[in-house]
Amino acid sequence: GLADRLQETLKKIRGKGKVSEEDVTQMMREVRIALLEADVNFKVVKDFINRVKERAIGQEVLKSLTPGQQVIKVVNEELTALMGGEQSKIAAAHKPPTVIMMVGLQGAGKTTSTGKLAKHLQKQNRNPLLVAGDIYRPAAIKQLQVLGEQLNAPVFTLGDQVSPVEIAKQAIVKAKEEHYDYVLIDTAGRLHIDDTLMDELNQIKTEVKPDEILLVVDSMTGQDAVNVAESFNAQLELTGVVLTKLDGDTRGGAALSVKAITGKPIKFAGMGEKLDALEPFFPDRMASRILGMGDVLTLIEKAQSSVDKEKAAELERKMRKMEFTFDDFLDQLDQVKKMGPLEDILGMMPGANKIKGLKGMQVDDKALGKVEAIVRSMTVEEKSKPEVINASRRKRIALGSGTSVQDVNRLLKQFEDMKKMMKQMTQMASSKKKKKGFK
Ligand code: GDP
Ligand code: MG
Repeated sequence: GLADRLQETLKKIRGKGKVSEEDVTQMMREVRIALLEADVNFKVVKDFINRVKERAIGQEVLKSLTPGQQVIKVVNEELTALMGGEQSKIAAAHKPPTVIMMVGLQGAGKTTSTGKLAKHLQKQNRNPLLVAGDIYRPAAIKQLQVLGEQLNAPVFTLGDQVSPVEIAKQAIVKAKEEHYDYVLIDTAGRLHIDDTLMDELNQIKTEVKPDEILLVVDSMTGQDAVNVAESFNAQLELTGVVLTKLDGDTRGGAALSVKAITGKPIKFAGMGEKLDALEPFFPDRMASRILGMGDVLTLIEKAQSSVDKEKAAELERKMRKMEFTFDDFLDQLDQVKKMGPLEDILGMMPGANKIKGLKGMQVDDKALGKVEAIVRSMTVEEKSKPEVINASRRKRIALGSGTSVQDVNRLLKQFEDMKKMMKQMTQMASSKKKKKGFK
């Protein structure tokens, strides 16, 4: 699939200490092929490649400490932008009910998605009314009723002898009377776009003035999905897209082209047949998923601007040798301050919450300031050999830093704990390596 192809390509550049223009060009050639094979629209691919190249070949990327990672970051950002950048939520009417029309071709997943959306709304304590507006497909009404039963949500129907326009109209009346806050109208589809279908949908639109017209498209159909979206948008002016069957063996092209071609955002993604298999669509998460790197990207972003590579290597050496001093501690503090809240950073490191001792270390800016003051009041000797800090020295340090002896004691204790923890960590790391057969 697309994800595998892209990850394979990006892996080659990721760890490179030096990246040349030629490297970027070569990589983008492979990315281009991967996107085209994933059935992404040709023009979308072309624009995308140009944007990434222009940014990636820029000086600040290639000359950065981690050029390989920076290039990937650019790819990720441009993928995110391609899919709309920010998450696009569904509308809420000023005066309830919010009316949502589900449209699309037959088999795209309209009825299923109507049920899923109802469940999504119920989870937010909303009260949706489902409307059986497909009177043509045999058993379409029954299908929605079955979903309604599973959800314990009412389904409005007038059978298959009343026009869908009339059904929609009466459903709104009922929703207002009975205080439903959402009305989800399931509509009919055809195998192909035709005038009769569009006329009927347009009549419903005129009658009920929906807050949302969501086009349901099957992502398995690749570029066809995008063509369908273009036609529906031209005729009905959509407000958003629900991309279904992303759980299947999709090539991914639709997710990447829909927004760029139609200008309409993907609002939800269908990830399976079950009622809870609908996810709000987040362009950044989708991009990260495609590139297979999750929050690591955010970490790269935070680290790149602040952490000095040489200092980090030196620190690692010292940790191994247990030569870690209060001066190093101060350096660390500086870096941490530049990176932002420590808790955020720990939260992004896989497994960090499992390391004993980290949780209890509450680090807020005020506490950091205190710690810094204490360390700066130590002599050179004290900083490198904390064991010499006796009672009278503690008093002096507290006075000099405007803190209390308890504060100084606490810091010394934390420093000892931290050293112990580092010892454990380095031992853990080396025993793991041994187990795997490394030397
Ligand atoms: P409609 O004709 O547009 O109303 O389509 P349906 O809602 O009847 O769905 C057609 C088929 O697609 C059904 O078998 C659904 O279970 C299936 N389906 C819908 N959404 C998804 C999805 O996100 N993932 C998978 N795997 N199947 C889906
Ligand atoms: Mg249906």
